[in-house]
Amino acid sequence: MDRKYKLVFNDHNVQESITYALVTKFDLEPSVLRAEIDDNGGMMIVRLRGSEENIDNSVGYLNEIGVETVLLNKHIYRDMDRCIDCGSCVSICPARAFSIDKETWNIDLNFERCIACGSCLTACPTHAVTLSI
Ligand code: SF4
Ligand code: SF4
Repeated sequence: MDRKYKLVFNDHNVQESITYALVTKFDLEPSVLRAEIDDNGGMMIVRLRGSEENIDNSVGYLNEIGVETVLLNKHIYRDMDRCIDCGSCVSICPARAFSIDKETWNIDLNFERCIACGSCLTACPTHAVTLSI
């Protein structure tokens, strides 16, 4: 299985070799989808692949060393009453979460692909998109 998390680091744990630990201690395949980190801390969006038990244990480990974990699950929402299918979000999305349905010309959203960058929020002329992380 795989799950996506937002990890929040502080100045005490930012130097920890998180991805190494996830691989060696918990037999996971971590993919870093986005990272904004400096010496003072920051955040990372990561996809964890592995068994449910190992993912749960790794989250426990991260919390123990002070890394805040936020499960990203349908963290992006599009209000279909507001969306006018203009397509502005399609070209700006770095993760290709938005796409054009070539048959209907409607705009589709695959929330599984979203890396929570927020670009579509400012690009959307009708404020149809919200992020909850
Ligand atoms: S926040 Fe919007 S632009 Fe950024 S990855 Fe998610 S869907 Fe794409
Ligand atoms: S930018 Fe906003 S209105 Fe335009 S297609 Fe995307 S979500 Fe819909």
